[in-house]
Amino acid sequence: MILENDSLELLGAALKTLDSGFANLPAVTQADQSSEVARNKNRMAAVMHEVATRMHGNYPYFHPQYAGQMLKPPHPIARAAYALATWINPNNHALDGGRASSQMEKEAVAQIAAMFGWRDHLGHLCGGGTMANLEALWVAGQMHPGKRVLASDQAHYTHSRISAVLGLKFAAVPSDANGRMDVSALAKMLEAGDVGCVVATAGTTGTGSVDPLPEILKLRERHGFRLHVDAAYGGYFTLAANLSPEARAAFDCIIQADSIVIDPHKHGLQPYGCGCVLFRDPAVGAIYKHDSPYTYFTSSEMHLGEISLECSRPGASAVALWATMRLLPLTRAGEFAGMLDDCREAALQLHQRLVQDARWLVPFAPELDIVVWAPRARSASEISALSQRIFEAAAKNDLHLALIRLPVRFFASSKQAFEADRETVLCLRSVLMKPEHRAWLDRLWEILSRSADEVLRR
Ligand SMILES: *Cc1c(COP(=O)(O)O)cnc(C)c1O
Repeated sequence: MILENDSLELLGAALKTLDSGFANLPAVTQADQSSEVARNKNRMAAVMHEVATRMHGNYPYFHPQYAGQMLKPPHPIARAAYALATWINPNNHALDGGRASSQMEKEAVAQIAAMFGWRDHLGHLCGGGTMANLEALWVAGQMHPGKRVLASDQAHYTHSRISAVLGLKFAAVPSDANGRMDVSALAKMLEAGDVGCVVATAGTTGTGSVDPLPEILKLRERHGFRLHVDAAYGGYFTLAANLSPEARAAFDCIIQADSIVIDPHKHGLQPYGCGCVLFRDPAVGAIYKHDSPYTYFTSSEMHLGEISLECSRPGASAVALWATMRLLPLTRAGEFAGMLDDCREAALQLHQRLVQDARWLVPFAPELDIVVWAPRARSASEISALSQRIFEAAAKNDLHLALIRLPVRFFASSKQAFEADRETVLCLRSVLMKPEHRAWLDRLWEILSRSADEVLRR
């Protein structure tokens, strides 16, 4: 089999252990009555066959030759633990609905906070980076009512949309030629005195660029805004041993943020539906204050629903994350950190090969594990057309890349200039977020080269 399936055995064994905890209860399945699955076995098998066949319609996200968007399968332990938890199906909104899994969520979130150096914090899991950022900007808006939110023009588009949802004024700060927030432009915008929150991105979604947190923090001293760090994609790279000095300095400043967002469902080996928001000051919990007439009864301890905007939430997400971190703790130089080093090394090697090959234009070196590049041609429009064709040719050769539209100014320092007949240029993009990409790089390069030749020699 190409797909991992040993975790099914682990799941079967753990299910028996789970079952043994409830052995004192009378059996639900009567001896003379077959279970739901046994009664419907043939029809369920037919449906499952259909489901598996329908899933063939995906790109092979699990495979190293899928090197396009931010997609990869969860760790087998996360998959098994998530599935196991669904036999109970806890709801981490209230301790009444998710007693054990809420405790696991608190422990898992505390480990993530500790990864950034926070001993005290307030935080919880949520549906993803969008929801997590929404909560962070909501709190920022409550703390500085009427003031603006700023994020770079390379920040995730969710920030301007969330600001609109929350009724907050939003403005984009220009980025520099490396895709990072331009601090002098930020400084100018702050002069207006109406900024309540600056969103710094530690690893932009498009290019993995890391905003210059040390300089942004200096501006906070003068202007007193809240600093929110959107580390949805890049957060775990704080454990990596092979960051550039600039990126390292930025990650080392995250401890000074007021709030942080990180997505365990991106680099944290989790199935989708697992984001995390953290606040440095636990007192912001007061902003969430509400009374539930329904749910908060069985415990005087804090229910996660008291500090979360979402109500029902999958306890299974917390269980999967807890299990993954139990196996692969968030320690520097640990096994998990080594995976991030491998991803980054793969990106550095791909970048190196691209730079040494006359066929390609490369705007800047990767700061994380995302590489962007484009075929050389006379104009932005020609480059864009070629990128599209190489992307398609590679996919036919079973190498799945991604496309991204970048401002032409990102190429200002590339040695061979091209005619900027439009403001943006379509480029190739590869998110090398599977550690296996490092070992597969020769093969990925060979297919990319062959696909490019097919297009460029025609
Ligand atoms: C992915 C991402 C988001 C959005 O998070 P979702 O989990 O997709 O909702 C926000 N910000 C950054 C930097 C991201 O990479």
